[in-house]
Amino acid sequence: MALRTIVTLPEPVLYRKARPVTKFDKTLQTLIDDMIDTMRDAPGVGLAAPQVGISERLIVVEYADQPDEAEGEEHKEVKPKLYVMINPEIVKSSEETVMGIEGCLSVPGLVGEVERFEEIQVKGLNRRGQPMKVKAKGWLARIFQHEIDHIDGVVFTQRATKVWKPETQEEEEDKV
Ligand code: ZN
Repeated sequence: MALRTIVTLPEPVLYRKARPVTKFDKTLQTLIDDMIDTMRDAPGVGLAAPQVGISERLIVVEYADQPDEAEGEEHKEVKPKLYVMINPEIVKSSEETVMGIEGCLSVPGLVGEVERFEEIQVKGLNRRGQPMKVKAKGWLARIFQHEIDHIDGVVFTQRATKVWKPETQEEEEDKV
C-alpha cells in the first residue's frame, strides 16, 4: 500500500470521461488499496481514480452516515463505512434536490454551492467484480454524486451556482 499523488486542476485527466474497469487483477487491487490510503491521509471522505491520475471508473467513499434525528440518536458515535465501487451508475434518484457546500481534494482552496439529488440508488461492482447496490441520502448521496461526476470528467466548480474561497477553517467542508 502506498500513497498516490492527488492531481489538481487544470490536470486534463480531471476533465476526461473515464473508461470502465474490465480486469479485476492485482493491479486493480493495489490501486484500490492505494486510493483508500490516499483518501484517509488527505483526509477526505471520497476519492475517484481520475483524482490520482488514473482514468478508470472506480471510486472509494468513507463516511459516517448520521442516523435520522427523529430516532433521537444524533449524539451516538457513528462508525464510518467504507464503500469501494467499480463502474458505478446512478439507477434511481429522488425528485427532491438539495443545495449544499462542497469542497474537492482536486480543487484546493475553493468551495462551492452545488445542487444534488437528496436520495439516490447506485449500482456497480465490488472489488471482486460482484454486483452491489447502495441506497444513499443526504451527505452520503452527495459524496457519491460528486465522485461519479469525477469519473465522467465533471468537477464541482462546473456545476456550482456559486464558488468562493473559504475565509475560515470552519467554512471548509469534508473534501471529496
Ligand atoms: Zn472531488
